[in-house]
Amino acid sequence: MPPESNHLPDAPVGRVIASHSDRHTVEYDGRRYECALRGLLRKTGVEALCGDWVALDRLDDINGAARIVEILPRRVELARPRVANIDQVLIVHSVLDPAFNDEAVERLLIRAALCGIDALLCLSKQDLAPRDAIDAIAHRYEDHLNTPAIKASIRDPDTLTALVEALTGKVTALAGPSGVGKSSLLNALNPALRLRVADVSGKIGRGRHTTRHAALLEVRPHAWVADTPGFSNLKFTDTLPPALERAFHEFAAWRPDCAFANCLHLDEIDCAVRAQSGGELDRARYERYCVFQAEARECAERLKRESAKSEYGLKRLDAVGRGRTREEFRLKGKNREASRRVHRQRAVRDSQTETAHGEAFLEDVE
Ligand code: GDP
Ligand code: ZN
Repeated sequence: MPPESNHLPDAPVGRVIASHSDRHTVEYDGRRYECALRGLLRKTGVEALCGDWVALDRLDDINGAARIVEILPRRVELARPRVANIDQVLIVHSVLDPAFNDEAVERLLIRAALCGIDALLCLSKQDLAPRDAIDAIAHRYEDHLNTPAIKASIRDPDTLTALVEALTGKVTALAGPSGVGKSSLLNALNPALRLRVADVSGKIGRGRHTTRHAALLEVRPHAWVADTPGFSNLKFTDTLPPALERAFHEFAAWRPDCAFANCLHLDEIDCAVRAQSGGELDRARYERYCVFQAEARECAERLKRESAKSEYGLKRLDAVGRGRTREEFRLKGKNREASRRVHRQRAVRDSQTETAHGEAFLEDVE
């Protein structure tokens, strides 16, 4: 449901479904309008992103044109692709060909959790894998990781019903390595999209819709999918360790019993989470957590280094400043406090950015 305009309660509100520099295609009431931003808005430097809700005026139904007069507040914003107001991420992975990769899927799941976006798993190419292998994976994700798992195959259109249901009424970002059948699934849902799929030799073609600008595709009525270009860096070197820890939602059950309130469950004594590894907590899952934490530690160390460097700079300034008035020294002390504050804020911001602005979803994990 579109939100209401803050300033113009009666203005029609539509959603941007494609953006090309300053031209935006807005869907309103089942129709499409080519829109530019009102001059006043353009001057403020704001951008209308794909997925944004916008208030319109000057609707011209004959020429399919209108004008954007307001961009409504965003709920979430993904950085790559730059899309706003994504409701969920659909992580697609085959069971066989290519073989299911827990680490790749978990990286995407954790990314979604860091962004505060719901994730679901689509186990694709189910015609290729034995039923019990598919069920085992679905069971693990549904029961242990609280992630709905949908099984699908383009060879069997009946299997697509659950997928359509999950996508309807939502804006979904697709994620998953190349070759797992993302484009094929979208084509199966809406053949008019004619997205390019990998040829029989296995060579992966870039989707025909892969442009520098994001677009939302309506794969079924009221089911919108963000056409995501590929992404590569899915390492957690941009995430602070405590944020990563919180993204492992299942730890919540044991975390209160750790000896330290800020326990990261690595080598701390009396850690209740680590004690579960090999028991209720899948050992392989815990080991992946440790791998991801090693990446996050790089982020923490980088911040520490940056912070130390600027403190050193300030100390030198102090030395140079010897002989200056007390007033100047006092000011410098303040600056240093301000600099510490900036670093702290930056650390907090970096650990939270992913909620505010989202991060890269995507494919090409290999
Ligand atoms: P993408 O890179 O994730 O978009 O994957 P593609 O859609 O390009 O598909 C990769 C390959 O998998 C293509 O050769 C498809 O024909 C094949 N494929 C996709 N979906 C299925 C499926 O459900 N069953 C089988 N057997 N093959 C599939
Ligand atoms: Zn612990």
